Amino acid sequence: MPENTHTKILATVGPATATKEMLEKLVDAGVDAFRFNFSHGTHEEHAERYNVVRRISESKGRHIAVIADMQGPKLRVGHFKDGKVMLKTGQKFVLDLDETAGDETRVNLPHKEIFAAVKPGDVLLLNDGNIALEVEECDAGHAVTKVKVGGMLSDHKGVNLPNITLPISALTEKDKDDLAFALDLGVDWISLSFVQKASDVQEARDLVKGRALIISKLEKPSAIDELEDVVRLSDGIMVARGDLGVECPIQTVPVLQKRIVAMCRKYAKPVIVATQMLESMIGAPTPTRAEVSDVATAVYDGADTVMLSAETAVGQYPAETVQMMHKIIEQVEHDPNFYNCMANNHKDICESESQGITYAASELSQVLPDVAAIVTFTASGFTTFSMAKERPDLPIVAITPSETVARQMGIVWGVRSFINKDVFLSFDLIEEIAIKYVKQCGLGKSGDYIISTAGFPLARRGMTNMLHTIRIP
Ligand code: PGA
Ligand code: MN
Repeated sequence: MPENTHTKILATVGPATATKEMLEKLVDAGVDAFRFNFSHGTHEEHAERYNVVRRISESKGRHIAVIADMQGPKLRVGHFKDGKVMLKTGQKFVLDLDETAGDETRVNLPHKEIFAAVKPGDVLLLNDGNIALEVEECDAGHAVTKVKVGGMLSDHKGVNLPNITLPISALTEKDKDDLAFALDLGVDWISLSFVQKASDVQEARDLVKGRALIISKLEKPSAIDELEDVVRLSDGIMVARGDLGVECPIQTVPVLQKRIVAMCRKYAKPVIVATQMLESMIGAPTPTRAEVSDVATAVYDGADTVMLSAETAVGQYPAETVQMMHKIIEQVEHDPNFYNCMANNHKDICESESQGITYAASELSQVLPDVAAIVTFTASGFTTFSMAKERPDLPIVAITPSETVARQMGIVWGVRSFINKDVFLSFDLIEEIAIKYVKQCGLGKSGDYIISTAGFPLARRGMTNMLHTIRIP
């Protein structure tokens, strides 16, 4: 097993990681959580891989989080007679609701909401932002555009409309079907693509009904405009740099990344930095220097989790990529300046009495000699999320009666989780149980302190009011 690091690794499962052997290799290389991307693959494929992940997790005695990533309202053009066309800069090109095959002059855009929302002067970006079309005239069923930046456009390529909020929900009919399937499977987190506004999160919450926690993927400028509300209403956040870098000027992505990570820490919400982290390793056994620096920057920023997409889903070197990511994390976390960076990136705003307690626990861990670990007892995960927000220079051990909560910690900074129901029935066991699991992590010797936090009574959710020191006999 690799060394335990604080920053977690999330890997996307795909054809390159469809076997038990490969998934096991990834876990051994340091993966803490898997993403199942519902933009690809069938329900049968997802179910099969999901069951394999659960079996591996059981056999290794490690709680692994599973995230079901919903495709969301990803907009796409229709298809072409020859599969593709070359659009020349300066030419006219028509988008319409006609489902027949397109050519050099027109193509289907099967989303009537777009025609209702765009006006002359608006820009549509196609194929990951590589083609730009400016609307010249439009009505309810078609738009005449001028090609501002030309290029090759092939079947079903994506369409981005920066700065336009469409009157559509973050969950399409396909997403609702996928969501029901994923919840029945038992996934721990759901991620929502193309969240446009804070109310999208509430809409999803009404459907999820507490069966999983909700991650909002930030990839639309309108969601950034409501950043604070989106963060408050979500359980976790993903900095979805792929689409974000198309929707917003690409040079703003690093600035937004820092802003989003800081906002998530303020509200004690786990945050994932995603996309192109070690992109060149899709086809090469080593990354570029710039990619290594990018992963390191996310770790220094204080992200809870760094994500791999195509690198593990379809790449040639999935295990090597995870090993590389783990080595970068380890190196940064060993930098004596790492915790200064953490502290600098975070203003200690206590939003509540609960966060005051976890803040105090973190401070206490700095002044007491020989603290082995911080132990959080948590029914809902709430106390552990606020403890992780402080980014203490110590392992955070989470003890929970809930299997789901234990697994959800797979994307939370610095947390190792254990399931124990006894302590939630008998508070008197608190010291004994804390010591047991700290020792199980290979930590703590006679005379060391453990700092523990919890909400009392333990079974109550969403409140931290207890800070307590334990001396290991
Ligand atoms: P995706 O999301 O890979 O599902 O598009 C991540 C991103 O846009 O960065
Ligand atoms: Mn995306």
